[in-house]
Amino acid sequence: MKMRRLLIGVAILSLLISDKVWAWGQKGHDVITYIAECHLTPKAKKAVRQVLGGHSMMYYSSWMDNMVSDPEYASVRTWHYANVDEGESYETMEKCPTGDICTALPEIIEKLKSRELSDSLETLYVKFLIHLVGDVHQPMHAGRLSDRGGNDFHVKWFETPTNLHSLWDTALIESLRKWSYTEWQQNIDIASEKEIAEMAKGSVMDWFNQTVNLGKTIYLNVEEDGNYSYDYMLENYPIVEQQFLRAGYRLARLLNEIYG
Ligand SMILES: [Zn+2]
Repeated sequence: MKMRRLLIGVAILSLLISDKVWAWGQKGHDVITYIAECHLTPKAKKAVRQVLGGHSMMYYSSWMDNMVSDPEYASVRTWHYANVDEGESYETMEKCPTGDICTALPEIIEKLKSRELSDSLETLYVKFLIHLVGDVHQPMHAGRLSDRGGNDFHVKWFETPTNLHSLWDTALIESLRKWSYTEWQQNIDIASEKEIAEMAKGSVMDWFNQTVNLGKTIYLNVEEDGNYSYDYMLENYPIVEQQFLRAGYRLARLLNEIYG
């Protein structure tokens, strides 16, 4: 009976969240993916393009969000995030029965490294990898479960009502710069080889826990229904840039390990 209630709860929850976008906005994913592409070895770059049927990585950076309502991919809808409530950690929290970013991403990496996937599955898994390495660096993808990763945390951005999730997905980034993804890369991708190697280290869980901690700081600095604008941008643009770079360098490292 308890299990049945839990399953019904999960079904209702997935209906409630199905209209939400669970990702960096398109720009964030394009920036991260382009930074990664710029740091691939020539061999890995060629192999990845071949796996993607001749398309660039950016062609598929937001694909996983665009097909979120496709019933064929219903089983992967919860893979974009893992929401951790206050006082909980990933280890202690109740896990989503259909998987989350902390279970999906390591499995995708392992399968790709095994080199035993069929061609069509390999293509699918590379598309998943490109997108989810981005998502694991969006602080609200590790936001609280109680407010559905900031989706129910109402704030105003330059007096316009929005929510904390959407602010960190899109509004903050679009307000910060009017750059294209190539301009973002040209202007922020300035780390030394040593710094890049340092940033690219770690496991998915290391990266996730780092994102959880960033999320905690973000929650500490906002109030429900608060209005935020220039001061907030000034305080938080280093976090946006840092997360774009970390995600880009880490995605490049993984693809170089698989194909380089
Ligand atoms: Zn996503």
